[in-house]
Amino acid sequence: MAFESLTARLSEAFRRLRGRGRLTEADVDQALREIRLALLEADVSVKVVRPLIGRIREKAVGAEILKSLNPAQQVVKIVYDELVDLLGGTLAELNLARRPAVILMVGLQGAGKTTTAGKLARHLAGRGKKPLLVAADVTRPAAVTQLEVLGRSIDVPVHLPGALTDPVAIAEAGLARARAEERDVVIVDTAGRLHIDAALMAELEAVKAAVRPDEILLVVDAMTGQEAVAVAERFHAALTLTGVILTKLDGDTRGGAALSVKAATGVPIKFAATGERLDALEPFYPDRMASRILG
Ligand code: GDP
Repeated sequence: MAFESLTARLSEAFRRLRGRGRLTEADVDQALREIRLALLEADVSVKVVRPLIGRIREKAVGAEILKSLNPAQQVVKIVYDELVDLLGGTLAELNLARRPAVILMVGLQGAGKTTTAGKLARHLAGRGKKPLLVAADVTRPAAVTQLEVLGRSIDVPVHLPGALTDPVAIAEAGLARARAEERDVVIVDTAGRLHIDAALMAELEAVKAAVRPDEILLVVDAMTGQEAVAVAERFHAALTLTGVILTKLDGDTRGGAALSVKAATGVPIKFAATGERLDALEPFYPDRMASRILG
């Protein structure tokens, strides 16, 4: 499971701190050094770790904290609060006010985009929405069939390309069908590539201009660590993302992507995927994730 080693290292740092009783500034600094190393080893970006440790120190070495009855507990609480903040503060909900609302799913090949489109449709259908999936990934040969099969298994209709080969035309046709069928949310699966390239971005920009999405969700593989953050930065620069969905948090990811993406890009993590099964998608609650990380 994700974060195992980070959780173990943080627990160890806190255990040592608790063992000291009264704390001096030097005790706090020692703990902060351990926390800093633990975060860096979890692949959290240096750009994120440095100011984070600075903020924790500023709060933790305040006279009231060091003189208090259980200073170690208070330091743990400060770290927890900072982690929650780093992860986005509160749940960032989807904006689905418009009818039909349009969600564009983007990401690199293999990140889990098509699977996640199906999971999201299932999630929304479970909350009383009437989704339509649109198969506009005509680059990866199996993607259309994959989405068709997913849709069937969750009982959500899938708009297929038919004779169309242009993703823009497919997305527009899907949207028109959603209007005609009075669906409330359209989830468009778009093409990925192995690497970000100009052609991919141009295609996504064209689809965006055509369907004017309410949500542009980047699906990133949490296992790729800092690379996930770099990918999010590039996609955000080109498309102005509204959210990130982190996948494969069930793997042995060190957690760096989860902890850095929001701080590095300003884009909130909206969902986390924790397995291949279609029910393995959850809204991303920063407080729950922070609790999990602290163990
Ligand atoms: P796409 O190329 O981005 O559309 O990726 P796919 O949706 O085809 O997913 C690529 C692979 O990752 C598939 O084998 C999925 O089953 C798998 N996958 C997707 N999400 C998760 C996840 O959260 N956890 C795990 N373990 N595997 C996932």
